[in-house]
Amino acid sequence: MVTAVKTRNVVSKDLVLEMRQAGMPMREIAEKIGRTKERVRQILMEGCGSTDHEYLSTLQLCKQAGLPRNRIIDLYMDGIIVPAVKWDAGHRDYLLWPRDAAVKIGEHYKNHRLCKVCNHPLPKNRIFFCSDNCRQERHKYKYMTPEEKKRVLDNIRRYREKRKITAGTQLAVVLR
Ligand SMILES: [Zn+2]
Repeated sequence: MVTAVKTRNVVSKDLVLEMRQAGMPMREIAEKIGRTKERVRQILMEGCGSTDHEYLSTLQLCKQAGLPRNRIIDLYMDGIIVPAVKWDAGHRDYLLWPRDAAVKIGEHYKNHRLCKVCNHPLPKNRIFFCSDNCRQERHKYKYMTPEEKKRVLDNIRRYREKRKITAGTQLAVVLR
């Protein structure tokens, strides 16, 4: 009984390492071998000292590139980055990215400027903002630089003081 369990452990360890190198998520490996994700992590750490595999998950790529997931998917749809591994896991596609994907994204954005408000890539005919909506949005207080904010607040204060003085003068005229 003990031998059987040991043998099964040895087999699943190799399998785990293999599956991980193919880029399979740890959770899915755990499901396949009927162990917990933590056990898979342990096996990987014992087996090769790391839970990393050759490719980046979309989450890892998001972190490296400093972009949200939907932007990564946009770049993928536009053919800017090509997944190294893609497989259908039933309810969803798993995408894995080559290690240089973040560099490719960086190069792409060096040549394609981003909207100052929403950070989306600019169409060819735009210089600072991707749309009129974003251009109007930019004039909102929350997007202003600290100097601009200070100027607006100063103007408001000056306006209020002026109005107070005017109101005072008018009152004085009425009372006279
Ligand atoms: Zn925009």
